[in-house]
Amino acid sequence: MSPTATKSKNPVSPKDRMKIPRQLMPEQPAHERAHNFEEVNLGYNAELAQQEAKRCLECAKPTCTDNCPVGIDVKKFVELIVAGDFLGAAAKIREANVLPAVTGRVCPQEDQCEGKCLLSKKVKPLGIGYLERFVADYEQKMGTHVVPKVAPTGKRVAVVGSGPSGLTVAGDLIQKGHKVRVFEALHEIGGVLVYGIPEFRLPKQIVREQIDYMRAMGVEFETDVVVGRTLTIGELLEEEGYDAVFIGTGAGLPQFMNIAGEHLNGVYSANEFLTRINLMKAYKFPVYDEPMLDLKGRDVAVIGGGNTALDAIRSALRLGARKAYVIYRRSDAEMPARAEEVHHARQEGINFQMLTAPVEFLSDGKGWLTAARCVRMELGEPDASGRRRPVPIQGSEFDLPLSVAVIAIGTSANPIVQSTTPGLGTNKKGYIQASDETQRTTRKGVFAGGDIVTGSATVILAMGAGRRAANSIHEYLTTGDW
Ligand SMILES: Cc1cc2nc3c(=O)[nH]c(=O)nc-3n(C[C@H](O)[C@H](O)[C@H](O)COP(=O)(O)OP(=O)(O)OC[C@H]3O[C@@H](n4cnc5c(N)ncnc54)[C@H](O)[C@@H]3O)c2cc1C
Repeated sequence: MSPTATKSKNPVSPKDRMKIPRQLMPEQPAHERAHNFEEVNLGYNAELAQQEAKRCLECAKPTCTDNCPVGIDVKKFVELIVAGDFLGAAAKIREANVLPAVTGRVCPQEDQCEGKCLLSKKVKPLGIGYLERFVADYEQKMGTHVVPKVAPTGKRVAVVGSGPSGLTVAGDLIQKGHKVRVFEALHEIGGVLVYGIPEFRLPKQIVREQIDYMRAMGVEFETDVVVGRTLTIGELLEEEGYDAVFIGTGAGLPQFMNIAGEHLNGVYSANEFLTRINLMKAYKFPVYDEPMLDLKGRDVAVIGGGNTALDAIRSALRLGARKAYVIYRRSDAEMPARAEEVHHARQEGINFQMLTAPVEFLSDGKGWLTAARCVRMELGEPDASGRRRPVPIQGSEFDLPLSVAVIAIGTSANPIVQSTTPGLGTNKKGYIQASDETQRTTRKGVFAGGDIVTGSATVILAMGAGRRAANSIHEYLTTGDW
C-alpha cells in the first residue's frame, strides 16, 4: 500500500499533502446552539472542501474503501472534488450509497473509512465524512439528481420498515427495474433517522429530500401499516402477490433497568422521549406545544453513554433544562457514543457523571420523580463485551435531585413480525436469523437486515446489509434459486 501520484489531478505533491492541516468544520458556537435545534455543524464551502480533498494521499490500495460497509470509492470521489467536479463526486458516491447527505452527517467515520486512512499514522485523517456531506449538499442545492431510467422486470418487492436498511434495499432494487413498496408503521418515513436522531445533528429536511429522490425514482411508500398487525408477511407473499419481502424493522424496543421507581412520572425511555421531541415536534416549541416536555428550569439526567443518550440530553438542554446530566457507569474510554458528539456535548455544558449508576428513583409520594439515588463505580475485569466491568463502590451512594430521567441503556427486537411469520427463524434474543452474505432468512422469499438482525448498530452497517439484501433479492428474482 503506497501513496501514488501517477496521473494525479492533485496539484499538491504527495510529500506536501501532509503539511496541509485538516480543515475544521465550521460550527454554531456552543453557547448559541445549546439553546436552539439548528444544525451544529455548518458544512464546508467549496474552498474548504477542495483544500481538504487535496490532503488525500491517493493510495494505490485505498483502505478507506475496504473499511466502508457499502464500499464507497473514496479515492475517486475525492479526486473529483480536487478537480472541481462536485456533481461528478456526488454521482460517484451515489453508485454505492443512496443516502450520502445522511451518512456524511452521522456515520462513525473514525471507526470506518477515516479510521483506516493512511494519513492518520502521522497526522489527522482525511475528513471523508465532511467531504461526503459537502458534495451531497451541493448536489441537493443544485437540484440536479439524475433519475435513472431502467426497464421494468415485472417483479414486486415489499420492504417492511423505512429505516436506512429498508431505504437502501428500496433504492437499489428500483434501479434494477423491480417495483418496490415500503410499508412503515409510523406516520413518517425514515426510521431512526427521523424519530431518533434530532434536528441539530440531522435535519429532517435532509432525510425528506433523500426520500423525495427515491419517490422520483418510483419507490412507493405506505405509512401507518404495522406489519404483523395490519397485514402479515404471509399475506404480502401469498395474497398481495409480492415476489419477495425484506424485513428491516430495526431494534426499537426499549430496555429498562428494572430498579425501584422506574414507573414514576418523569421517567422516560429514550425512545419515547426522542419520539416526543422529533415526531410530536417538541423541538418546534412554541409552534408545537408538547406540555410533557416543558423542561424549563428542570433538572434532567439521561442514563447511558451511547449516541441515543447524548441525543436525548442535548435535546433536553435545548428544551430549557437547568441542569443536564449524563449518568454513565463506565469511563470515557468505554463510551460508545461518537467522539465528535461527546466533544460537542461537553462544549455545550452537559455534566458527565462518569463511573456512576442509579440504583433507585425516588418520588415525592405522589408518583412524581424527585431524585435518582446513585452509586459510584470502579472498573474491574473485562466482561463478555471486552469492556472493563463496572463494580459498585461500597458506601458511595448519593442522591441527585431530578425531575426528569431518561433511560438510554439500549434496545432490543420488537417481536411483532417474528411472532406472526411462521418459518422465520430467530436467535435467543429474538433477532431474525439471516445469512451474513445474502441476508436470506429461513423462510423462502424473505430477507432481513439492519438492527433487526444484528441488534442496535449503525446507519452504515444497516445500509451495507440493505445493499447485500438487494443484490441477493435481485438474484433470487432473476434466477428463482433459493
Ligand atoms: C437516537 C439514536 C441515535 C443514533 N445515532 C447514530 C449515529 O449518529 N450514527 C449511526 O451510524 N447510527 C446511529 N444510531 C443507530 C442507527 O440509527 C441504527 O443502527 C439504524 O437506524 C438501523 O437501521 P434499520 O434500518 O435497521 O432500522 P430503523 O432505523 O430502526 O428503522 C426501522 C423502521 O421499521 C419500522 N417498523 C418497525 N416495526 C414495524 C412493523 N411491524 N411494520 C412496519 N414498520 C415497522 C420502524 O417504525 C422504523 O421506522 C442511532 C440510533 C438512535 C436510536
